[in-house]
Amino acid sequence: ADHCIEYPIKPDIMDWTVLYSNIIPIFDTNRSIKILNKFVEFVDIGCGYGGLLVTLSLMFPNNLIVGMEIRVKVSDYVIDRIAALRSQFPDQYQNIACIRTNTMKYLPNYFYKGQLKKMFFLYPDPHFKKAKHKWRIINKSLLAEYAYVLAENAIVYTMTDVKDLHEWMVQHLTVHPLFLRIPIEQLTSDPIIEKLYESTEEGQKVTRNNGDKFLAVFRRISDPYLN
Ligand code: SAM
Repeated sequence: ADHCIEYPIKPDIMDWTVLYSNIIPIFDTNRSIKILNKFVEFVDIGCGYGGLLVTLSLMFPNNLIVGMEIRVKVSDYVIDRIAALRSQFPDQYQNIACIRTNTMKYLPNYFYKGQLKKMFFLYPDPHFKKAKHKWRIINKSLLAEYAYVLAENAIVYTMTDVKDLHEWMVQHLTVHPLFLRIPIEQLTSDPIIEKLYESTEEGQKVTRNNGDKFLAVFRRISDPYLN
């Protein structure tokens, strides 16, 4: 149950300084609070044990990255994992953090419109049965929320070992007017792509079990009705 999840009622009151505690905050005189001098731009939705965060941290040391995970024990594990890495390598891993939250409910509570540059859906729960499809982390109404928090030209990465879920995600993202699939050949220059296969714990498990891996990447395009 997620009745005990703490979440900000709006992005304005989200205190990111506690999550990125080694980044020196600035004082926002308008609101009389301490804030970071940059925004979180990458989000790993359902980050599990945090393997992608750890990989991205060193690849993008100047970007703030957050993993969101609903399971208490799993998010606690990631929080401890990051703390351990920071104490072992004091100059590194300051740009990653994990929040326990339900992204299906609270994503727009954390992020402003157009704030995010990259969003990751790696090996999301498949919810195989038709009656459970409504729990899939990508669906029509959630895509509207993702489009809202994503910047124009932001990238959405999806990877799964479940063909049916892959087709579901591709279908929903393709019919949505604010997302455009990026052809595989245009992805070769993106260093993140190769990391999507093995960085996460679920990805490693799929490899051990000789499972398939289906990749689909989309761009958040500008709103045709606004131009
Ligand atoms: N992305 C990770 C990886 O590749 O190892 C984890 C994959 S695991 C199959 C899916 C994760 O999504 C689980 O850890 C689950 O707790 C989390 N999750 C499911 N629904 C969620 C939600 N509404 N909000 C946040 N996390 C969620």
